[in-house]
Amino acid sequence: MSSYVNDVIERTKEKNPAQPEFIQAVSEVLYSIEPALNIHPEYKDAALLERIVEPERVVMFRVPWVDDSGKVHVNRGYRVQFNSALGPYKGGLRLHPSVNLSIIKFLGFEQIFKNSLTTLPMGGGKGGCDFDPKGKSDAEVMRFCQSFMSELFRHIGADTDVPAGDIGTGAREIGYMYGQYKKLKNEFVGVLTGKGISFGGSLARTQATGFGLIYFVQEYLKTQKDSFDGKRVCISGSGNVAIYAAQKAQDLGAKVVTMSDSTGWINDEDGIDIELMKQIKEVERGRVSDYAKQRSNCKYQDGRGVWSVKCDIALPCATQNELLIDDAKDLAKNGCKVVAEGANMPTTLDATEFLQSAGIIFIPGKASNAGGVATSGLEMSQNSERLSWTFEQVNQKLQGIMRNIFEAADSAAMMAQGIV
Ligand code: NDP
Repeated sequence: MSSYVNDVIERTKEKNPAQPEFIQAVSEVLYSIEPALNIHPEYKDAALLERIVEPERVVMFRVPWVDDSGKVHVNRGYRVQFNSALGPYKGGLRLHPSVNLSIIKFLGFEQIFKNSLTTLPMGGGKGGCDFDPKGKSDAEVMRFCQSFMSELFRHIGADTDVPAGDIGTGAREIGYMYGQYKKLKNEFVGVLTGKGISFGGSLARTQATGFGLIYFVQEYLKTQKDSFDGKRVCISGSGNVAIYAAQKAQDLGAKVVTMSDSTGWINDEDGIDIELMKQIKEVERGRVSDYAKQRSNCKYQDGRGVWSVKCDIALPCATQNELLIDDAKDLAKNGCKVVAEGANMPTTLDATEFLQSAGIIFIPGKASNAGGVATSGLEMSQNSERLSWTFEQVNQKLQGIMRNIFEAADSAAMMAQGIV
């Protein structure tokens, strides 16, 4: 490892104690760009790495809200505006009890590189709150979202910072937040993406991250004169990314045999019934255990275990650090050929190194899940023009963007290996 990379990582650790996810993301990126640093010694003179690891701005704020019984709750909100070199800050809002500054900083840091890969004019940012929407009534979620936006609105704007969805933040939450923003600012502008179709949302945004992940892997498979047809695919998670990755993989002839949530996982040897999964997860807000009850050949188990099932392609689509070293060993033992990240940083650093050393193609989320933010960029363009493109128009642009990202990543990987 170069002493410059080492020094910056050590100083980042000293300045950011108790932020393990952020340090992990910084280490992963800095190690991987060493070949570029070796060719460009001037980057060190310009303190490029020191600038990249320091957010431009961090906002932390109180979010008080009242539940249905009249009890007051107080959560902590965040917006990390990491880097605006290429355009307005852009990145999602995560609502999950695990949210803390380390997690939001790691996500904001990764977002810089992902957004630049799309070649759209977007900087990197991320935000969220340690609020758990699970088990809350619509009215409680609405009061929380309104309170959250009552502070966030002063830090964002269509040309400043454009948040979107992430874990726990879907169309319902974005709708409540957008309504509050409009009320406070008296402006109908593209300040949030992931909006409902009737008030400025883009067709194909819901599908974009999952579809984009599959388009990316498809580009890789083409280079091997191969395709999804007949492949066994293991997917973790059962949220937005997981569902649409499963749908597109099966459309292309694969069989998706696993999915999960934070309580347990399922193995459906008949292949996931996508419409049933959507009904349970998107409409009824149920669990994967409810899905298993309605399928004769589907096994449900509590806890984790998705990566123990034999597959050709593994797609972690739930959350950070969900694919551990022992999972990587199981995947290798079972003949898995490709691991492509749908979630952000789902693979631990040691598991990543193991997969790469075992000759398994490892595709990092910064490239493979960029379809979501790319389509958010397309939603921003439509909002600026006051136009709505068709599903097929957006889907085609998404496919083109994923193809370009694959080509950029592929040629960078070859350059790093000294092949070109
Ligand atoms: P959702 O909230 O729609 O779904 C998340 C899924 O992961 C759910 O099945 C959830 O289970 C599961 N999950 C969440 N936390 C944990 C945990 N700690 N342990 C086990 N399972 C967990 O989120 P998304 O699908 O939108 O996001 C998934 C990942 O993809 C995240 O890493 C996100 O940052 C990333 N991503 C999302 C994009 C998007 O456009 N949505 C874009 C790019 C990246 P449960 O229901 O039990 O909580």
